[in-house]
Amino acid sequence: MPGSAGHEAQLAWMISTLSPLADSLIQQPFSATTPFGGPYDFTNLIAVFSSQAPGVTTMIGAHWDTRPVADEDPDPDLRDHPIPGANDGASGVAILLELARIFSQQPPPSPVYLAFFDAEDSGKRGSELPYIGFCMGSNYMAHNWPVQIEPPDRVIVLDLVGGQSKHNPRVPVRTDMGGNDYFDLRIEPNSQAVAPQLVDHIWDIAEFLGHDAFKRSSQVGVIDDHIPFINAAGIPAVDIIDFVPPVWHTVDDSPEYCDPDALKQVGETMLGLVYGM
Ligand SMILES: [Zn+2]
Repeated sequence: MPGSAGHEAQLAWMISTLSPLADSLIQQPFSATTPFGGPYDFTNLIAVFSSQAPGVTTMIGAHWDTRPVADEDPDPDLRDHPIPGANDGASGVAILLELARIFSQQPPPSPVYLAFFDAEDSGKRGSELPYIGFCMGSNYMAHNWPVQIEPPDRVIVLDLVGGQSKHNPRVPVRTDMGGNDYFDLRIEPNSQAVAPQLVDHIWDIAEFLGHDAFKRSSQVGVIDDHIPFINAAGIPAVDIIDFVPPVWHTVDDSPEYCDPDALKQVGETMLGLVYGM
């Protein structure tokens, strides 16, 4: 969570992990206050692969910060605790780190950026726009694209892709938020509106691979890290998200409730997109 020793350690660990794998690693520091305090030091990272290759430039991103409050926890006494963020943040980061390892061994045929957004999840409910605490890192990146590299032609955001390993009797199923008690990736309407062909292509790849978490039905629209790239930069952007698992924004967002098969389904679909199929 922003301002914590864990936030600093996570950043240092990602930099040391990604530096030997990527062609280059761009660090984008910025400072901002959130509804929970600050000013905090934030850092976006972009790991660059095959930047000189021809073809469409793809950016795949996830947020690496965690939420400082478990404000959706059913227990009011726990709502000022931070969330562990295993699904909400770390699941997407885990996939990106594995993609980085694979890309280092087999360079993508076209340019790929792996983006690690800071400061996604420090908003208060109802303040989603204009980015007061939510999506601050991606919004900063969309408005301050680094001069070293060309902007991407398309953006894919991975969020809440950690799956749902088992029923948790302590937290209710969030049907009020459009959620359910199993892992599924329905089409996010903002993505469908601006990037219907990319949505179709991704879901085609998933279906070809037999990854049945990807569903052609529609879910509720989400303000997530894809929105700044659509609004500020006019780039087609797709959010792949299971909105929302029962543990969302509770203290039980831990690895215990994640499922490796979810990471596999999403990760292999991204490999299909990058290597072409
Ligand atoms: Zn969140």
